[in-house]
Amino acid sequence: MKGYGMIKVGEHGWLEKEKPTFGPMDALVRPIAIAPCSSDTHAMHGGSGPKENLILGHEAVGEVVEVGALVRNFKPGDVVVVPCCTPDWNELGVQQRGANNAHDMGPMKSFKFLSSKDGVFAEFFSVNNADANLVLLPEGVSVDAALMTVDMMSTGFYGVEMADVQLGDSVVVFGIGPVGLMAVAGAKLRGAGNIYAIGTRKNCAELAKEYGATDIISYKDGDLVQQILEKEGGKVDCAIIAGGSAESMNQALMLVKNNGTIANVNFYDVTDTFNIPTYLWGLGMSDITIRGGFCPGGAYRIKKMLNLIQAGRIAPEKLLNYQYEGFDKIQDAFTVMDEKPRDLIKPVVHIKWD
Ligand SMILES: [Zn+2]
Repeated sequence: MKGYGMIKVGEHGWLEKEKPTFGPMDALVRPIAIAPCSSDTHAMHGGSGPKENLILGHEAVGEVVEVGALVRNFKPGDVVVVPCCTPDWNELGVQQRGANNAHDMGPMKSFKFLSSKDGVFAEFFSVNNADANLVLLPEGVSVDAALMTVDMMSTGFYGVEMADVQLGDSVVVFGIGPVGLMAVAGAKLRGAGNIYAIGTRKNCAELAKEYGATDIISYKDGDLVQQILEKEGGKVDCAIIAGGSAESMNQALMLVKNNGTIANVNFYDVTDTFNIPTYLWGLGMSDITIRGGFCPGGAYRIKKMLNLIQAGRIAPEKLLNYQYEGFDKIQDAFTVMDEKPRDLIKPVVHIKWD
């Protein structure tokens, strides 16, 4: 079968590989819509280690082709939403108290498509633990909207959950790429008061406003921290880091009140370093909580995201501003994700099979 991915570090292209095998609890799926992600291009450039001959892609809505003998809830022809994170629910790690199921066997180990097997930019891909991971596309939810739940919404909202945004809180969101935009929307749904969204790209800023940002903060207008402190008349309750550099952590520490929370969902590079003067963290006495995490996966998580769409609370498909039609266009969509033109928010490829 054909798939698109990394030939080696720094080189992407079409790959010819065997159709994936799947176990008795798994499903074989073919994509009907996929979205390239900065994690895919990050991996292609070597950001997650020296990989080669690997099909990329981890955001998909698909059609079930075959299921293993023990799969009860799905059959060939079902249209399914595929979480980017597909935990192995038989692993004890998932059952740990308070566990984030993204890390069933170690850091991010449920992020299987990119880390331990071929991804969804393929004629076929396998999904482990199909009954516990897949979700039928619900009535009234478009393929595009569903596609944006599997990573963008789940990750942006995880930032909001980690930051523990409360009614009336003032929140700063660093970065208004697709994840930051979903963090803005999630903070609004959680009842935030002021939402300061940091970014410069015009169409992203417009969408941030639409999703609930009260203020757009640009470095072009002066020091980010000073601008927010002035507008707020003091510090904020929480910050969500969904973009920027390691320096964003220091800015967040300057912005968040004692007892506040900083939640990070930004994927740093192995070469990045936090350089935090201790006074920014109250010499260790600030009671500011710093959290970072990877979005949980599985069917229950994604159903919650889909519920919000069904109830008309959020329209995440607005992120998809580069549209492509046909399997062969995965190459163009991946290339645009890699080149990141200024107006790109998120690309999508719709695929029809004969
Ligand atoms: Zn992604």
